[in-house]
Amino acid sequence: MYDIAIIGAGPAGATLARLIAPKYKVLLIEKRRLDDPARYEKNGKCCGGLLAPDAQAVLARLGLGLPNHVLADPQIFAVRAIDFNGGNERFYQRHYINIDRTKFDLWMAALIPGTVDAKWGCRCTGFSRTDEGYALRLANGTGTGTNSFTEQARVVVSAEGSTSALRHLVLQQRRDPRDPRDPREQHDPHDPIPKYVAIQEWYRTKNHHPYYSALFDSRITDFYAWTIPKGEYVLFGAALKPGPDDPARFVELKDKLFTIGLLSGDLHKKEGALIFRPSRLRHLLTESDDIAFIGEAGGWISPSSAEGLSWAMESAIAMAHSLASGLPGASRRYRFLTVSMRRHLLNKTLKAPFMYHPLLRNLAMRSGLFSLEPAEVTPSYKK
Ligand SMILES: Cc1cc2nc3c(=O)[nH]c(=O)nc-3n(C[C@H](O)[C@H](O)[C@H](O)COP(=O)(O)OP(=O)(O)OC[C@H]3O[C@@H](n4cnc5c(N)ncnc54)[C@H](O)[C@@H]3O)c2cc1C
Repeated sequence: MYDIAIIGAGPAGATLARLIAPKYKVLLIEKRRLDDPARYEKNGKCCGGLLAPDAQAVLARLGLGLPNHVLADPQIFAVRAIDFNGGNERFYQRHYINIDRTKFDLWMAALIPGTVDAKWGCRCTGFSRTDEGYALRLANGTGTGTNSFTEQARVVVSAEGSTSALRHLVLQQRRDPRDPRDPREQHDPHDPIPKYVAIQEWYRTKNHHPYYSALFDSRITDFYAWTIPKGEYVLFGAALKPGPDDPARFVELKDKLFTIGLLSGDLHKKEGALIFRPSRLRHLLTESDDIAFIGEAGGWISPSSAEGLSWAMESAIAMAHSLASGLPGASRRYRFLTVSMRRHLLNKTLKAPFMYHPLLRNLAMRSGLFSLEPAEVTPSYKK
């Protein structure tokens, strides 16, 4: 019997495991092999890999500094915002740290103390309530080599990210049996949190732009798209409302970027992920009967920028604090300890219309408020 089982060792799960290891008997389940840096390509996580100032502040609170090998070229001080609806373009100063996300996850995993019983390459496939806590169904390996087994824990923490199986199962159990909607007809009828499909492509290029570009085009998406330089690559990604024409919309925007020279080079790899975009507090799921949800599994992610790293680590700190006074009631205390995070999330939703309502964005960008005046007489994008 473990005190706590954490499912997922991304930034949320790895942070929590490290913080609570001295006090509890912890089981950590992670389907990636983050114990093995040699499997770099297979350990990848679809992400832009930008550490925003909020995430830097949480790392500072955790007493951590980034090792050099986690950084990716170049370091970025500017966002080039392009509004294809209003025909506006502006540069804004932002202090991001550009990282290799896979190396970041490997580094965080390496910080987890050996006293944590970490099962790498292991998936959690389900759970059931027992008298003392939970029985977790786990599976090692894939295909015919799969080895299934069960482990017991008093408290379970889902840190599985946006594809959290536990979130899905808990919400399914809460579903009103009188709800007439056919579950197969909708993307996920149990879970009201808005979901986006992120598609991201890596291009090997010699034509590097030393900034992060944020691209707005309401014909393509009501969220946004981006390019990020990353070493010898440039990443092009977009967060799209799930639908059959996703790939076509992605290609339409990509063609536009090739035409204006923002994107160039040869396709190296393509990846995808689900992104949550909470717009109301009820979209958050913090706890349910001794199961706590931290990181994106709980809905913790900025609805205005899709920045999730600070929220992942911040929610892990809140959960660690709630566990400091013992196991009973910890998940309920966690709900209380995330009040300031809820307030922060509300502030982000208030900011969102200025970025995503075409008229308000047009006004904000035309005003030039907070933007940088390019030093060149004729900026390169106008040549
Ligand atoms: C395309 C894209 C770009 C992004 N760019 C940025 C960015 O630049 N900056 C930023 O701050 N945020 C960004 N985000 C958001 C950020 O990546 C996430 O919010 C963040 O990773 C959440 O951390 P987490 O620990 O909660 O979950 P994750 O990082 O998703 O980690 C979850 C972990 O759980 C494991 N897991 C899942 N299910 C199971 C299971 N059943 N059994 C065992 N293990 C399991 C996974 O393998 C994974 O390691 C981006 C997201 C996307 C999709």
